[in-house]
Amino acid sequence: AIAIFWFRRDLRLEDNAGLYHALKSGLPVLPIFIFDKEILKNLEDKSDARVTFIYQTIKALNEGLQKLDSSLLVIYDTPEEAWKKLLTKYNIKAVYTNHDYEPYAKKRDEAVAQNLKKHNISFNTFKDQVIFEKDEIVKDDGKPYTVYTPYNRKWYSKLTPFYLKPYPNKKYFAHLFKTKPFPLPALKDLGFEKSDLEFPAIHYKELILDYAEKRNFPAIKGTSHIGLHLRFGTVSIRELASTASTFSQKTWLNELIWREFYMMILYHFPQTANHAFRPEYDHIKWVNDEKQFEAWCKGETGFPLVDAGMRELNATGYMHNRVRMLVASFLSKHLLIDWRWGERYFAQKLLDYEMASNVGGWQWAAGCGTDAAPYFRIFSPDAQLKKFDPELKYIKKWVPEYADISKYPQPIIDHAFARDRCLKVFKEALTK
Ligand code: FAD
Repeated sequence: AIAIFWFRRDLRLEDNAGLYHALKSGLPVLPIFIFDKEILKNLEDKSDARVTFIYQTIKALNEGLQKLDSSLLVIYDTPEEAWKKLLTKYNIKAVYTNHDYEPYAKKRDEAVAQNLKKHNISFNTFKDQVIFEKDEIVKDDGKPYTVYTPYNRKWYSKLTPFYLKPYPNKKYFAHLFKTKPFPLPALKDLGFEKSDLEFPAIHYKELILDYAEKRNFPAIKGTSHIGLHLRFGTVSIRELASTASTFSQKTWLNELIWREFYMMILYHFPQTANHAFRPEYDHIKWVNDEKQFEAWCKGETGFPLVDAGMRELNATGYMHNRVRMLVASFLSKHLLIDWRWGERYFAQKLLDYEMASNVGGWQWAAGCGTDAAPYFRIFSPDAQLKKFDPELKYIKKWVPEYADISKYPQPIIDHAFARDRCLKVFKEALTK
């Protein structure tokens, strides 16, 4: 009999909670990864960079496992079908994996667990991608927090070195299932092509030392670009949080706590994946002008900081946080386009796309989320530009034609008009 460890968004051998527990079970551990046909089918871009990233990571994982005389079994199917086949092929006693808090993942895991139960196989899941999960940080009355600041305070009050300790997986690698290498499907067998986007390296230690001073300026690399690695678990949150604690980099740690806050919110309020956290905001009469949406997507709105951000996103799969806040506010408040359109566009383009943080960020910007900026606070794109890119360095990089005003598009909307209209439309929806 064997145990199976199911890799998902935790693509590393070291300091991996579920893998650690599998290895300690005493059974030989077969590691598997399922390329989910359902998810891949829904990706429009057949050279989606995230698929390339996962593919490369899986390949490296497999090489690492082969050095230990084991191998990663990579399956291309729906989870349901994949498990059916695994059950006929192996004598499985227990399955191990890590928690995933997204609505789709929760349903998937419930279905798999039920199916395994019918075969008397235990399904053991662990917290891995956060320091504190779903119901570990709650109000005194046991209810989930819906405001960040008190959540953050409670988070720190609960933190002890225990939560930052890495899992010593290496000690137990001898318990991996021994096998000849399994064949790895090619990227094109999955219906995809290799993307030639560059992926950021895991390199954050020096950066976080002056994060507090540098993080707000999109022209400099003042942030870690670690989001992609957190998304797919190619870095351990315990390592990041413990480095931040050791260096007393509280500003940066606070951002990692925002990530956990939004994951907790999505877990408890799964409907917020496509509905405003504050239901009254679902009544806003969006204008949803498709031409304006297209101009926004392409970075041709005539507002240089908005355009620079969108072009950075389209070219690199990344956008600086300051600019994410502005382009999201501009789309939802200036253009009165449903925040869900923007959320979906980001979901297609961001390398670090994370449903919980993306929905959280969009709802914050549109004024309809947990800690939302009130609707009457409307960013002025010009004022933001003066404040955060005063020397126009970021603009020069992404919108070079801005230097020659005759070549740059006229603003697609007048700021003062947009501001008044937004106030009117939001107020109308909220006083219904
Ligand atoms: P750093 O500033 O170095 O921060 C380190 C890590 O902390 C990040 O990688 C991320 O995991 C986490 N983090 C930082 N800021 C936030 C935040 N405000 N909320 C939640 N987590 C945070 N972040 C995503 O990871 N995925 C998304 O899809 C996403 N969509 C966003 C959409 C909008 C409209 C907005 C306003 C913000 C969004 N963010 C998202 C949050 C933030 O912009 C990014 O996490 C950050 O810019 C990533 O760059 P970095 O890795 O250099 O972050």
